[in-house]
Amino acid sequence: MNDLLEDFPILKEMINDEKLVYLDNAATTQKPKQVLDTIRYYYEHDNANVHRGVHTLAERATKQYEQVREKVVNFIGGNDPHEVVYTKGTTEALNWVAAGYGATHVHAGDEIVVSYMEHHSNIVPWQQLAAKVGAKLKYITLTADGQLDLESAKHVITDKTVLVSLCHASNVLGVVNPIKEVAQLAHQHGAIMVVDGAQAVPHMRVNVQKLGADFYAFSGHKMLGPTGIGVLWGKKELLAGMRPLEFGGEMIANVGLYHTDFKEPPYKFEGGTQNIAGVVGLGAAIDYLTEVGLDNVTAHEKSLSKYVLPKLQKIPGIEIYGPSDPDIRTGVLSFNLTGIHPHDLASALDMDGVAVRAGHHCAQPLMKYLGVGATARASFYLYNTKADADLFINAILEAKEFFSNGSF
Ligand code: PMP
Repeated sequence: MNDLLEDFPILKEMINDEKLVYLDNAATTQKPKQVLDTIRYYYEHDNANVHRGVHTLAERATKQYEQVREKVVNFIGGNDPHEVVYTKGTTEALNWVAAGYGATHVHAGDEIVVSYMEHHSNIVPWQQLAAKVGAKLKYITLTADGQLDLESAKHVITDKTVLVSLCHASNVLGVVNPIKEVAQLAHQHGAIMVVDGAQAVPHMRVNVQKLGADFYAFSGHKMLGPTGIGVLWGKKELLAGMRPLEFGGEMIANVGLYHTDFKEPPYKFEGGTQNIAGVVGLGAAIDYLTEVGLDNVTAHEKSLSKYVLPKLQKIPGIEIYGPSDPDIRTGVLSFNLTGIHPHDLASALDMDGVAVRAGHHCAQPLMKYLGVGATARASFYLYNTKADADLFINAILEAKEFFSNGSF
């Protein structure tokens, strides 16, 4: 993978006179030249509004916008580009399912099931929905080492459950959830399976159909693409029964004075001028990841976890959240060091050019569940190297020394 470092101009940045070691990939990823060049080329040569004009540029822009739908559906193992709705990102996608599908399909007394490891964007929309319609929100618990507890899922999901929504991979614990098994369980009880794929699609081969997902959401910026673009994939019949949330230009079939007929999905959800350059950039990111090969990305991240985890585990006073076996971990590592607040640790690492995240990672219920206020988090991606892992470990050891000397 080292040969692709040249594709990422930002990795040459110096931070506090040190080479940047970017380990905040769960928050957002860096962009390769291929994505940046594609967006620039689009603006320099093809820019126009889509679906609206018959002129050449409008046709070119529309063609690209629709071709990316095909790339997306192939990338995630769907079979119909019309099942791909462009959104701002995972958050918007999940909100749309809650407000557009949930508001008409979830009723008083129904149950919505999530887990304790969810990101706020897979909790808050369901809380809002539950409060609005009088439904009950229930949580699947975790095993002692931070994996989804399937036994708990079997108890929590009942005949009253109408919707289960889980992250495919956790942004804190470094675990991949058994979506297929939970989807089967959900379907046995007549519920639908919604999946937050923000931390999965960038890192592993995903097949929404094999998983048994009914809705699947993810963000472009976490997979080498630009910010402001994401995807809601949904089964055709479910998208057909889902209310649009943005009314206006382009999403209509016919507008009368007092009544409007909407287009078919996905167009009825894409009201107004969309993030066309974002879509084009997402297409370039998919091309890039396809060229590298998702299996190679997964293998690379796994080898980095296997390399770094034992070194991290050896540091006295460290607590690592999630399973200790590197074989069942992604490239996300959350941890705390006794006596050092994660924010202080992240600031100290930044002095060495190492970018990690500190805080609750938009997962406050999980933090409470783990009994911590915050954690530090390093998250690896395809452009990280063993040298990055060494610099990261050294920076932690230096920070530990610094704080234990009381020299701050
Ligand atoms: N779910 C998970 C698991 C995430 O990690 C994130 C981003 N941190 C989101 C949802 C939200 O994604 P976005 O901010 O791109 O909408």
